[in-house]
Amino acid sequence: MLMRRGTFDDVPLAELFPQLASADLEAMRVVADAVDAVRAREDVPQWEWAPGHALCPGPQPGAAVVLMANVIVNASGGDQLEFWVQVFWTDQGQLAVNAAVNVACWCETDHATHDIDEFTRIVDETSLAQAFEAGSERLIGWLADPHNADYWRSRAALPPR
Ligand SMILES: [Zn+2]
Repeated sequence: MLMRRGTFDDVPLAELFPQLASADLEAMRVVADAVDAVRAREDVPQWEWAPGHALCPGPQPGAAVVLMANVIVNASGGDQLEFWVQVFWTDQGQLAVNAAVNVACWCETDHATHDIDEFTRIVDETSLAQAFEAGSERLIGWLADPHNADYWRSRAALPPR
């Protein structure tokens, strides 16, 4: 799926979420501004969206992202720390909001990555804006903590790099 990138002002919000009332779209804009205000410190506050996922793409393997913001902190030696909030279609065709802190795995058995903390809520047109706000608040809270992958791994009792 083709993802577009830009600032939140570029996001065609009413086209991505045609089912939402204008008050809900406005609420999402306010939340996105709060996310961008926090991200601006270390990141170009870009958003990504998939115009082709405004309507449910139907059952498919994996999540179909509609809209997302992320912060990727790359350390040397293949380490990675990533924070995000996204609106997506589940593989069962339900709209959902997900936010997570994800780190590269340094276990003896390679799991690739681990979600250290995570928020997921299945939504409908009446609850999307509230769930987006709740997920974004989680992201904003995580971003106030150290941007150090070992800090997050130690919180989950995972081995450091
Ligand atoms: Zn692991």
